[in-house]
Amino acid sequence: MRELRFVITPFCNYKCFFCHSESIANRITLYLNPSDYEFMAKVAKNQLGWNTCTLTGGEPLISPIFREVCEKIKNSGIDITVVTNASLLARPTEMLKDIVQINVSVHTMSPDVYGQITQVNYPLENVLSTIVNIRAKLPKLTIHLNYTVIKNLNDSGADFERFIKFAGKIKAKAKFIDLSTTDETLRTEALEIVRRLEGLGFEVRGANPWQYYLLRNTEEVKVVKCPFNGKYEDLPVRDIFVEPNGILYRSFGGYLAVDALNEIKSRNAVGLLQKINILLG
Ligand code: SF4
Repeated sequence: MRELRFVITPFCNYKCFFCHSESIANRITLYLNPSDYEFMAKVAKNQLGWNTCTLTGGEPLISPIFREVCEKIKNSGIDITVVTNASLLARPTEMLKDIVQINVSVHTMSPDVYGQITQVNYPLENVLSTIVNIRAKLPKLTIHLNYTVIKNLNDSGADFERFIKFAGKIKAKAKFIDLSTTDETLRTEALEIVRRLEGLGFEVRGANPWQYYLLRNTEEVKVVKCPFNGKYEDLPVRDIFVEPNGILYRSFGGYLAVDALNEIKSRNAVGLLQKINILLG
């Protein structure tokens, strides 16, 4: 299931020390408007059969065009997932009315560790109560809770259990992600995370090149390989990211980027498709 992943803003109100977007936030130009995103989503749907897309960042909810992008894409019959830190979701029914799934970055159930990771004063407690409120107000929304695993910070079995229990309580899926870093002292490989979960009684019930699916009675969790990790260059290409300056790049398959700004702005569907196909290989 491939899709376009729209980085609608590189900016974020958090400063997570492992963030991928920080390096680009100061030098990227935001050329794309809501109609541009609608055009790309329609090309992907009509030409490639990709019926979903993801809005990501940075923090997509701080983008002034967030709502308009959602409306346009939803009206094109495409399902939208939003990746968010949930700090700006006090009015979920309004902000998420066109959304089928949110992936919330939580990373820990410890307030202290949350502060160490996010480097801001926004309390974990507020995020957790926002997630509970979202579930109460939007019972059909699919919620995934993301947990980036950092060695010796949030990687104990007890840490995992608390997170899995919270996810279960609000009918969300717990998703563990390995950290993309060159600092091996911080990194726990995806397979090592799987082994840790097996130690908690989970069993691997499925896998593809990018993730593992595990089950313990009725509890389901996923372990996902981070696409920004250079160690996974040999894996098949998965999704296509679109930066706000019209640069497209692929996740997995080795880093490769193309500039599609002209094709997007001139509504050249054939040209855009050619650029996407270069990335798909
Ligand atoms: S919340 Fe996400 S986008 Fe924001 S700083 Fe943290 S990792 Fe980066």
